[in-house]
Amino acid sequence: MSTLKICLVSSEIAPFAKTGGLADVSEAFGRYLSAQHHDIRLIMPFYAAIDTRNYQFYPVEYALNCEIQMGSKHYTYHMYTTQLPGTDAAVYLVHCPELYARPSLYTNDADEPIRFALLNRAAIELCQRMNWAPHIFHLNDWQTALIPVYLKTLYSWDGLFHNTKTLLTIHNIGYQGSFGADVINDLGLNTYYTYFDASDLYHGRLNFLRTGIRHAHKLSTVSETYAREIQTADYGEGLHKDLQNRSEDLVGILNGVDYQQWDPQKDNLIPYTYSVHNLRGKNLNKRFLLKKMGLSYDRSIPVIGMITRLAEQKGIALLRGTLELILAQYNVRFIVLGAGEESYEQFLHYIQSSFPEKAVFFKGYDYPLSHLIEAGSDIFVMPSKYEPCGLNQIYSLKYGTIPVVRKTGGLADTVQPYDWRTGQGTGFVFEHYTQSGLQWALEYALSTYAHKNVWKKLIRRAMLQNFSWEEQIHKYVELYTRMLPGKIK
Ligand code: ADP
Repeated sequence: MSTLKICLVSSEIAPFAKTGGLADVSEAFGRYLSAQHHDIRLIMPFYAAIDTRNYQFYPVEYALNCEIQMGSKHYTYHMYTTQLPGTDAAVYLVHCPELYARPSLYTNDADEPIRFALLNRAAIELCQRMNWAPHIFHLNDWQTALIPVYLKTLYSWDGLFHNTKTLLTIHNIGYQGSFGADVINDLGLNTYYTYFDASDLYHGRLNFLRTGIRHAHKLSTVSETYAREIQTADYGEGLHKDLQNRSEDLVGILNGVDYQQWDPQKDNLIPYTYSVHNLRGKNLNKRFLLKKMGLSYDRSIPVIGMITRLAEQKGIALLRGTLELILAQYNVRFIVLGAGEESYEQFLHYIQSSFPEKAVFFKGYDYPLSHLIEAGSDIFVMPSKYEPCGLNQIYSLKYGTIPVVRKTGGLADTVQPYDWRTGQGTGFVFEHYTQSGLQWALEYALSTYAHKNVWKKLIRRAMLQNFSWEEQIHKYVELYTRMLPGKIK
């Protein structure tokens, strides 16, 4: 296989900076592409939150004191580099405290568009300084979506990028980078306003993601179903027409998961490991989990688990009413780990206080506990309103924790509906975003759980599903290769 030169630009890369799945996906690209001997270089901001004690960052001698004019503002930045831990991939970080020394990765500050526009330009200029022509600029979400326009405008003079193609991956269309149109000056693009959507500009707005969708050579998103959904008014968040116009260039490729971290056979964050051939440990984890949560254990009582951001996207609203009903009518345990919107937190506190013997709400973000919940629950619930890919349902399959999901996005692509007539399927899938849909699926799961042998078969089938990164990265390599004009050198 020929070596591909990939410049991946992302606003988060694990383990350096993470607020969500994007960081893990970016890290996986670095890990798996470098393992396949591709020349992958990753670029991200040097946020103040990055831990500088545990990782060594080295100044890039040919990229220090870089000056850049962003409209009326002038910035100086330095590039630092480090190795992505455990890989051969180089990560480059744009050090510009004026923009990135903030309490959080993302802000509502007035210069938010400038913070990421500078990342876009610094990525291009670093390639220039390295005299390195990537085959592909792989961009992720709105924060990197202006690179195609910059390449076509401010940097079009540079023959270095003559054969470079751009791929924009949409991880969640709910976040678009929509700002007042006056920022166009500070982007340095005021003379190139025709590259932006005329209607947006007319309404005094400018949308990074829409602009990227229009100008990237290819587009991808993180599941096939989500690729179809975002071309509809219901899911497109106002961008569906732009995506329809690009439908021939839009593909869905499911994210992979890291089975080094998420495999009950070798997971050192759970007290009892287990495998598809020996499920004993699963039940011991269940007992351990219940004890830890202060709930009583009975092997025959099903445990329903949930780990989630408490956001509208995750379908928490559907739990209202449904959860009370299930907890009142069935002998079950319900354990939810999550943090987010206050109204949802209040609702879950209310559930816990209404059913103290059956339900626990653990508020917060707790990585080790998330492993224990996966291992110790029988059923995992994920009733998302929309779900670009979703990871927890995939972890759940691996841990034999049968998912109850709504048929949307990556949930639809990873969980096959169980059908008691054929005995096939890996989870319980409801279609419509309604409380009765969720109730139906939960009751179906609970009644199936009562049949021990049937459930065991279901567990085994779920645990044998494979959504590893190796497979998925291969699909991206094929996509990159298809994008190139001729044979790569
Ligand atoms: P999203 O990125 O939309 O939040 P995903 O399912 O793609 O949803 O990924 C979420 C990741 O974050 C999963 O690995 C999940 O286990 C983890 N996670 C979410 N909330 C918590 C929490 N409160 N504690 C620990 N891990 C969490």
